[in-house]
Amino acid sequence: VRDLGMTFPAPRQGMRRTAGIKAVDGVSFDVRPGETLGLVGESGCGKSTTGRMLVRLLDPTAGQVDFQGNDITRLSQRALRPLRSKMQIIFQDPFASLNPRQPVRQIISAPLRAQGLAAGEIGREVRELIQLVGLAPEHLDRYPHQFSGGQAQRIGIARALATRPALVVADEPVSALDVSIQAQIVGLMERLQRELGVAYVFIAHDLAVVKHLSHRVAVMYLGRIVEIGEKAEVYANPAHPYTKALLSAVPLPDPAAERARERIVLLGDPPSPANPPSGCTFHPRCPKAQEICRSEPPLLTIAGPGQRQVACHFPES
Ligand code: SF4
Ligand code: MG
Repeated sequence: VRDLGMTFPAPRQGMRRTAGIKAVDGVSFDVRPGETLGLVGESGCGKSTTGRMLVRLLDPTAGQVDFQGNDITRLSQRALRPLRSKMQIIFQDPFASLNPRQPVRQIISAPLRAQGLAAGEIGREVRELIQLVGLAPEHLDRYPHQFSGGQAQRIGIARALATRPALVVADEPVSALDVSIQAQIVGLMERLQRELGVAYVFIAHDLAVVKHLSHRVAVMYLGRIVEIGEKAEVYANPAHPYTKALLSAVPLPDPAAERARERIVLLGDPPSPANPPSGCTFHPRCPKAQEICRSEPPLLTIAGPGQRQVACHFPES
C-alpha cells in the first residue's frame, strides 16, 4: 500500500468552496503473505476507509494498492474480477452483512457459484466450510436470524474464506460481540490462518483486541499512520505518545502490575478530519507537545528495531 489517500468532497457552504475532507492521507504499509497486521485507532481515524480501499470496495483518490503484482486501484472492474475472490472482507455487524432471506447454504456458496464451480463440488465445499468454522451441516438450511451474533460471524467468516483468499480485511469483526465470544472468534481466525495461510488486516479500535493475533500493528490517527512495527516491539516500547496512551488502556494480566501502572487519559475527542489541527494533528491532546509540534507535521520515519516507523518529533527511545 503506497501513499493511499481518500479525500471526500466537503459540503458546500454557500458560495464558498471548502477543501475536501482527508479521511485517509498518505498511508503506506505492507502486508506479508500469511501474517496479521492489526490496524488500530479511534472511530473516525480512517481505518475502515483504508480497509475498504484495500479490497477496492472504495476507489482511493490517491496512491496505489499492489496485490499480487497488480495495482488494483487502476484495474477495470472486468480485470479486477479474477482477483476479487483472492481478497475478501468481514464486517463488524454480521447480521447486516448476511442476507436475511437466504439460507446459510446459499450465503456461503455465493462466492463459489460466482467462480463457476459445479453443483456437486459447491455442496462438498460448503459442508467443509461450515465445519471449518465450528458449525454443523444441519445449520446450512437455517436463516441468519436463527443464529447468535457469534454464530452469525462464523458464517461471515466461512463466506469470506470460501474462495480461499490470500487476504481478508476484518473490519472490527468482534466489536459487536460479547466479550466471552470475542476470544472464540479471534481464536477461530487464528486457527484458520494457520490452516489456510491467509493474511489478515485486522481492524480494531483498541490495542487489546489485536494483541494476540497480530504479527505487526499499525496505529492510525486522523487519517495517518503514526506508528507501525512488530507487535512485540510496539507493545513493549511504544514510541508514539498516542500509542502509549492507547496501550495504557490495555488491561495487564498481572494485578499488581495493573495497579502500579500509569493510565494516560487523553483530553477531548479526536478532532474532525474536516478541520485538522496544524502541525502534528495530535498536538492538542499530546502530553509531550512542544512549540514545533504546532507548526511542523512530523514524518513517518524509521525509529527502532524491526523497521519500526514513528511519526513524532519526540518519540520515546
Ligand atoms: Fe506529541 Fe509533538 Fe510527537 Fe505530535 S510530534 S505526538 S505533538 S510530541
Ligand atoms: Mg469503522
